[in-house]
Amino acid sequence: MVVDLPDEAATERAGEELALRLRPGDFVAIDGDLGAGKTTLVRGIARGLGIDPLVVASPTFVTVQAYTGGRLPLVHIDLWRVGGQRDPGDTLESIGWDEIVSDTCSVTVAEWANLVASVLPCRRLDVRLTIRGTARTIEITDQRSCC
Ligand code: ADP
Ligand code: MG
Repeated sequence: MVVDLPDEAATERAGEELALRLRPGDFVAIDGDLGAGKTTLVRGIARGLGIDPLVVASPTFVTVQAYTGGRLPLVHIDLWRVGGQRDPGDTLESIGWDEIVSDTCSVTVAEWANLVASVLPCRRLDVRLTIRGTARTIEITDQRSCC
């Protein structure tokens, strides 16, 4: 189901609502162009988990960030540099990908997950954010029981 997000607050609220459904070990794959609201959504997820949303920054230059203090630990990764192989030093191995996807305690949220589609865990939530003029839409597909 595609849902309209008329403003930034709506994107953050969608993240908060999604957080209520998250369980330890979940992987949330976020797909969306630059400016589609990926980091805003993560801020809402953090708030929904009881983590201070102000700690959530756009991690483009810090590929992995972990936030604690909420109902579940939140691992926030940005795969832009890894997926685009824009820097040969940024590899899945260098960010500790195997540990990230086998972490059964935390929730992991990945911006630009579509860039590494072939290695995503099959049990995951897919989130697609789309830019529609000045607003956005979101579509969430729960694939946690699909493999
Ligand atoms: P991304 O991480 O996908 O690049 P951001 O979350 O940084 O995108 O958001 C980019 C900009 O879009 C921010 O200024 C944010 O406030 C704004 N924004 C987020 N959601 C919406 C929305 N639903 N409608 C309009 N603007 C939004
Ligand atoms: Mg971002």
